[in-house]
Amino acid sequence: MYNKASLRADEFISHEEITATLAYAEENKENFALIDEILAKAELCKGLDHREASVLLACEEPTRVARMYTMAEELKKKFYGNRIVMFAPLYLSNYCVNGCVYCPYHMKNKHIARKKLTQEEIVKEVTALQDMGHKRLALEAGEDPVNNPIEYILECIDTIYRIKHKNGAIRRVNVNIAATTVENYRKLKEAGIGTYILFQETYHKESYEKLHPTGPKHDYAYHTEAMDRAMEGGIDDVGLGVLFGLELYKYEFAGLLMHAEHLEAVHGVGPHTISVPRIKRADDIDPTVFDNGISDEIFAKLCALIRISVPYTGMIISTRESKEVREKVIRLGVSQISGASKTSVGGYSEPEPEEENSEQFDVSDKRTLDEVVRWLMEFGYIPSFCTACYREGRTGDRFMSLCKSGQIQNCCHPNALMTLKEYLMDYASEETKKIGEALIQAELNNIPKEKVREVCEDHLKKIEEGIRDFRF
Ligand code: SAM
Repeated sequence: MYNKASLRADEFISHEEITATLAYAEENKENFALIDEILAKAELCKGLDHREASVLLACEEPTRVARMYTMAEELKKKFYGNRIVMFAPLYLSNYCVNGCVYCPYHMKNKHIARKKLTQEEIVKEVTALQDMGHKRLALEAGEDPVNNPIEYILECIDTIYRIKHKNGAIRRVNVNIAATTVENYRKLKEAGIGTYILFQETYHKESYEKLHPTGPKHDYAYHTEAMDRAMEGGIDDVGLGVLFGLELYKYEFAGLLMHAEHLEAVHGVGPHTISVPRIKRADDIDPTVFDNGISDEIFAKLCALIRISVPYTGMIISTRESKEVREKVIRLGVSQISGASKTSVGGYSEPEPEEENSEQFDVSDKRTLDEVVRWLMEFGYIPSFCTACYREGRTGDRFMSLCKSGQIQNCCHPNALMTLKEYLMDYASEETKKIGEALIQAELNNIPKEKVREVCEDHLKKIEEGIRDFRF
């Protein structure tokens, strides 16, 4: 029986409820009175539940679909302004005991190069990332209790936070590792992680079990209930995601929103972020064998509807997507993107020899961070390297209340400008620097409070003098 407040996966992601939702959406996809009512509700920025949002996803009437896109753009501007937060993934180890059929790290893959970074190699990788200008990382690892136990992950986090090279520093480490115990989540929290990210891959239990035939990840309930354990362990920023292409997108979309509703109902705070990865070609993986691949149009519609349905949740797009696709969806509500990513273990400090491929998947956007930063600014966005919120204790519901209070323009906006200034001073090419300096000058006028603007201007001067790490 469907119960969003239940702690049992099969009750808060009820298959019957999703099936009924899809039938309801199909029946009402041309019920324009209802659709207009849902759109009017979305306009109030209060979000939509999975049934309402699924009706919009089913609706194909062009003027209404166009309204969804416009609304996503407006909501994005309202809550997040024009800032885009930058990050990079760091692959620690590709040893894995699972059998995920879409991932080249699966245990049966005998020809992929298996690698695990030593602490010395982490220093090299992180130094290379700092030298590009990155301040925020997402740690990635396969699941292997012998090769990558929690102690290894904790040691890596500790090493990463200690590395101070020139003006560089990693100020926020997010973690994307397999579902684990409350006790291990507590340890991750104590190690100072930002967001704990875990993709559900698919909410369809039967497909999930087939796609994860062996290994600990096979346990659907343990995986689906992971965020509750993470929150019990004290992590209050969690990141959801679905790997689009595995199952029917309408099913996944309803499941994703039900998961968000569940977290809100049980813990009083929804997901901090939602990621929208699509399956990519990889070592022994051919994405075309999964028949639920989605077009760029559907992908854009999903992004727009996530923005409308959960206006306070950040949305992440990785370099799985090309420059062209990123250009199309970024305005629809994306708040974070990765730049200059490598999905190999040890790929930042040295290019990997071809015969030693350890990559998780092919990257589509292969530009440098400087190119991505410049491209964002040319489109009128402010690339932000800000990590202030969690360092100031603004996590979970405290971050959400900042969002809801409308104070983001007096807080995140100046933080974005100051961290961009650091980037321009320390890492940018001359051309990027020129565009960036002009952007900062123009954007200072968009800080509503005069006092905040003055302090920000003063900090910008001090950054020019060599001082770093100011934040509101
Ligand atoms: N082992 C952890 C887990 O089980 O969640 C860490 C996740 S893995 C390093 C990061 C994510 O990459 C996976 O959750 C999956 O969604 C995604 N992924 C795996 N294979 C992929 C592929 N071929 N194309 C695109 N994304 C893929």
